[in-house]
Parts: sequence; structure tokens; C-alpha cells
Amino acid sequence: MGIVPPPCHIWIKKPFQSERMNCIMPRDRGFMISGENSFVIRVPSLTYEEEGGTMNALIADLIRGGPVLTDGSWGTQIIKRGLKPRELPDAWNLSHPDKVEEVARSYVDSGSRIILTNTFGANRFVLGNFGLADQVSEINIRGIEISRKAAGSRAYVFASMGPSGKLLATGNVTENELAETFKEQARAIAQAVPDAIIVETMMDLTEACIAAAAAVETGIPVIACMVFEAGKLKDRTMMGNTPEQAVEMLSGVGVDGVGANCGQGIEGFIPICRHMRAATDLPIWMKANAGLPERVNGEVIYRTTPDEFAASVPELVRAGANFIGGCCGTDEEFIRAIGNVLNNL
Ligand SMILES: [Zn+2]
Repeated sequence: MGIVPPPCHIWIKKPFQSERMNCIMPRDRGFMISGENSFVIRVPSLTYEEEGGTMNALIADLIRGGPVLTDGSWGTQIIKRGLKPRELPDAWNLSHPDKVEEVARSYVDSGSRIILTNTFGANRFVLGNFGLADQVSEINIRGIEISRKAAGSRAYVFASMGPSGKLLATGNVTENELAETFKEQARAIAQAVPDAIIVETMMDLTEACIAAAAAVETGIPVIACMVFEAGKLKDRTMMGNTPEQAVEMLSGVGVDGVGANCGQGIEGFIPICRHMRAATDLPIWMKANAGLPERVNGEVIYRTTPDEFAASVPELVRAGANFIGGCCGTDEEFIRAIGNVLNNL
């Protein structure tokens, strides 16, 4: 499937993954090998040991100097650029790559050290609702290429994997079907070799674990995030899971980081982050919305301003966040405001 350039050695990433090893090459070598029966081959510098386990070297390097600025919402930005109500943002990777690149570039220009990709809904189930089920590979690969082009050497590219849109609890999908769907997307993503994969906006912890496991199988670093917006304190997932349970289950799948995104404003993320930090040493990824969404004249609006959002960032850092950006309602102004606060910590 490819030639393995020296110097490489075989590295088993985590003890419980010893049976199923994947193979990934460093991104500057531009390709990876992966398959059912292949071995993990990592350049030694890609992974190093920490007490109690291993941490992916890229993730460890990124957070060593303090909290890392990520990006803001893609959906909000693509809508601003003219996405129609019945259009899927991911389809724009093929039809409007220039507009998608503009979004990516706006974040890189605002100081994001990590940008995501316009691949949030690029799984067979979501694409199928728009007649695009046979374009999983193309849309994912293009999405990563577009972000990579905008990022150049200025930012890392983490590929986004969002929910399937199906609910296990309703019985309209099986765990196996979800696994096949997410494996298909993860393999497509892996072909374009992003720096990491973000499993995000997950409402159901079981689905999150299935998606994260599919992503982990590629050998690419994975961070998995849940939406917490249920319960009296808004600190539970839709299915009632706590941040601690999310950390435990997702760690068990072998992710390199955990976190929360979407659902509510940044104030609510602070206690969630504290709970996660108390439960794990893994890097924590936090992307809050610009407040709670409100519907005004049929339009969804977010009232939190960039400065109001950024004012909560120091507390979020104290709570243990390693990666900070924004979700729905945030744009490059938010990223600049967060960046200013992080630079002055
Ligand atoms: Zn969101």
C-alpha cells in the first residue's frame, strides 16, 4: 500500500489497542498506511510516554506552552456567505470551495492555531438526506484539503466528525450501522491525513464512543466532545450522562483528548470543565456557543458579544481547559477576543 520511509519504529499506542494496530506516517511525509492487518508504525517523535500512559506528541507539543486557541463556528460563517436553508454546508466543499476556504482563512488570520474542516455532517446518514450518500470520500477529502490550503504552515488542521442524525434510543439505527458509517467517514478523512480528528457535538455517549473508536482506528490523534445542556445544572448530556462518565467512556475508547462543545454559553462550560479535569489528565477541548440560541423573527440569534465571551476565558483556563474556541454564533471576532485574553494570561 505504500513505502515506509525511515526512521520508523513500531509503536503500540495504548496497551488495550495492542491487538489492532494501525499505521500512520508523519504528516510532512504526506501519506499513511492503514488497514485491518497493518501495524502501527510511528516515527519515535510522534508519540512519547507520560506517567500513566502515552500522550500523542502533537497534542502534547501544542498544549505545552499553555492553552491553545482553536477556531469558531463554521455553520454560522457559511450561512453568512449565502448557504440556503435546504443546503448542507458540507456540500459546499464541492460546489463553493472558495467560500469554505474563506471561512478557514478567516480563522487562521484571526490567530487560530488549529482550524477544523467543513466535514461535520459528511457521514453517509447525513449526506444521504441530501442525496449525497455516495460522496462521503470526496466531500471529506476536499474538506481537509481546503482547510490545509488555508492553514498553510500557520495552523494545524483537525478534521470534524459530527453526529449521524440518527438516535440509537429510538431504534432507527443499530450500533453496527453507526460503526460502519463512522468508519467510512474516518477512513475517508484519513486519506487526506489531517493532524487530528475532532468528534464533536455528540449528544449520545454511546454514539460518541462508536464514532471515536472509528476515528481512533485510523491511528490519527482523536479528541472527542459531548454536548452538555440537560439537567437542572445543564451539566448532563441529552441522555443524562455526566462529564465524568463521558471522560471515562471516551478514555476507554483510546481518545487523546476529551471535551465539550455547543449547547450553551461559556459560563456553563466552566463547571463542566472542572468536572472533566477532576476526572482525567487528558487534554481538554472547550468550545462554547455565543450564549443560548434565541429565535427572533424565525432567525436564530446569539446575544453574547466577543468581549463578554472572552471575559470568561481565564476562568475556563483555571478550570483546566487546554484548547479554547467557540461554537455556534461565534466568528473570527470571537477568536480575536479570546486570543487577546490568552496572550495576556
Ligand atoms: Zn454549536
